[in-house]
Amino acid sequence: MAYVIKDSCISCGACAGECPVSCISEGDGIYVIDAPSCIDCGSCAGVCPVDAPQPE
Ligand code: SF4
Ligand code: SF4
Repeated sequence: MAYVIKDSCISCGACAGECPVSCISEGDGIYVIDAPSCIDCGSCAGVCPVDAPQPE
């Protein structure tokens, strides 16, 4: 299990600073999660203004 950032991401960067394992980085237009590193904590979803990170 890992969270995935959906296309609704507005690249605000808020989630990247909250991730305890630092697996979120700026991608091409949206932020991206390195799935193998994600521990499924949900912190990114908690701070996102547009609800872009979703559990897969
Ligand atoms: Fe990072 Fe947790 Fe979000 Fe996974 S669910 S990307 S570990 S903040
Ligand atoms: Fe994108 Fe939400 Fe992360 Fe901001 S907090 S970069 S909108 S996923």
